[in-house]
Amino acid sequence: MHHDVLKENKELRRKMTAVMANARHNEERLRRFHEQELNLLSANGLVDLLRTVLVGHRQVFGLESVTLGVIDGEYDIQRLLADLGCDDSFPEIVFFESGGELAAFFADAQVPRLGGFREAMHGALFAPVTVPASVAVIPLRRHGRLIGSLNLGSVEDGRFIAGSATHFLERLGAVVAVALENAINQERLKHIGLTDALTGVHNRGYFDRRLLEEVERVQRDGEPLSCLFLDIDHFKRINDNYGHQVGDRVLQEVAARIKAQLRLSDALGRYGGEEFAALLVHTDTEQAREIAERIRMSIADEPFLLGGAHHLVLTLSVGLATLHSSGAEPLGERVGEQLVGLADAAVYRAKEGGRNRVEQATESFG
Ligand code: GH3
Ligand code: MG
Ligand code: MG
Repeated sequence: MHHDVLKENKELRRKMTAVMANARHNEERLRRFHEQELNLLSANGLVDLLRTVLVGHRQVFGLESVTLGVIDGEYDIQRLLADLGCDDSFPEIVFFESGGELAAFFADAQVPRLGGFREAMHGALFAPVTVPASVAVIPLRRHGRLIGSLNLGSVEDGRFIAGSATHFLERLGAVVAVALENAINQERLKHIGLTDALTGVHNRGYFDRRLLEEVERVQRDGEPLSCLFLDIDHFKRINDNYGHQVGDRVLQEVAARIKAQLRLSDALGRYGGEEFAALLVHTDTEQAREIAERIRMSIADEPFLLGGAHHLVLTLSVGLATLHSSGAEPLGERVGEQLVGLADAAVYRAKEGGRNRVEQATESFG
């Protein structure tokens, strides 16, 4: 009898210890989960969020492989990342052209799928990373629509077992989906606010901001900054002869040809209707003149195709001005405006001189 009580007691204590250990384990898991949730919600922009998702989940949950499936039928998320200079930064993102492939994976249930890794099923989702032994593939949905999947992989085959911890993972999926959608929308808005809708180059607002930054850089680094002002010759005639739509297409092509001659660090903005302005960083007058000539020739030497057999020979005039550091003395407050003003004045001389030419500023800053 006495012996039985002892035995029972021991058994109870063993069970108790196991329950406590399990509770501690769950508490720890919950703590890490909350920590990651906070990280996701406080991410600063799309790039920071992607890093939090791809690197953060690996660290916080001690996983070997984390990837993100993203449905990007119009390639606009990939374009945003390219504009942010991050097109190669996240090999763990797997882009899908349509939702079909991913949706089929989750079937009707649209809940996290846990279990052993199977190449035929999970291969594509985990292709960029170490092949895991067990995986959790979590649907990311917004407003009832699948936008992607968060894919967690572990080298332990018992880490993700069908039917376990799905509540956690569903919640994690919901948080990641909201954070991702918000970050993409914010990035899109920022992008739209700085881009000219017709030509895709920057707009005047962006150009003016960059101008201030680049003038500061001249002051700091002591390197010259050149400005090109580019105005299409007799553009009105194109509209008059071929219509506004053809005019629009020509503007797009001109913008693309100018951009092709610039470096990534330069800034190109559509300044007005058929006028563009470019900032060439670390560029003196001589180098800027070479670039301006290259742009001029890229327009004048290659006819614009208007569809069918029609083509059009087009030219543009370029004005050029250069800002040099004034040594220790601070540059005036309006020196950026003056730089553009001087380049603009030089365009008028190019027009008067017969168009299709590059003229440089003759006046100096005052
Ligand atoms: P110049 O050689 O002296 O620069 O002559 P120009 O005809 O290029 O210059 P002007 O300033 O007289 O005319 C500019 C024309 O550009 C007039 C305007 O209708 C046209 N334009 C401005 N913005 C747009 C646009 O977004 N799309 C189209 N299709 N035309 C535009
Ligand atoms: Mg003009
Ligand atoms: Mg013009």
